[in-house]
Amino acid sequence: MNNNVITPEEGNKKFLNKLEAMKIDVHACYQCGRCSSGCPVSDFFDLKVMEVVRLASYGMEDILLKSQTIWLCAACETCATRCPNDIEIAGLMDILRSLALKKGVTPAQPRVPVFHQSFLDSVKHWGRAYEVGMIAGYKLRSGDLLGDMKLGMSMFMKGKLNILPHSIKEKSEIKEIFSGKGKEYER
Ligand code: SF4
Ligand code: SF4
Repeated sequence: MNNNVITPEEGNKKFLNKLEAMKIDVHACYQCGRCSSGCPVSDFFDLKVMEVVRLASYGMEDILLKSQTIWLCAACETCATRCPNDIEIAGLMDILRSLALKKGVTPAQPRVPVFHQSFLDSVKHWGRAYEVGMIAGYKLRSGDLLGDMKLGMSMFMKGKLNILPHSIKEKSEIKEIFSGKGKEYER
């Protein structure tokens, strides 16, 4: 992170109201650093987890939406579990990713949302992740045709990848979720 001085007065109030409505209490953070020290992928972040929370409490939406951290976060929830103030940090990362897409901010890690979209397409279609279709979709969209070939072959040889998709019985419930009417969207 650079050393420009940032003050809460410059913050985006609409963004702060949104976090409040989603019950993400970023103001409860006292910068103890437990979230950052427990994050398994923090070495790859451009903003530390505790910096994300502090910037969010200052309403620094623009900086956050352009960061690599929001896309590299693995949503493992370790930070939220370790936070002594029960701040829903993984939920905050989710909101930031969603806002970045909604506002058309170019993702700092463009392949990540491409992968997310391939995953969602697979779940929408089959009711579950169909790995081979998902990987094919990701590769076509990202242009990364040859990446991870060795790993893919090794998984296939060990029977970890099914060539044919399997569907689920209650696909109507999945349809409801994607239409925004499902229970998961009530919160
Ligand atoms: S663990 Fe919680 S209180 Fe501590 S720095 Fe992280 S967000 Fe703030
Ligand atoms: S949810 Fe994201 S930020 Fe939190 S510990 Fe996991 S990877 Fe790190």
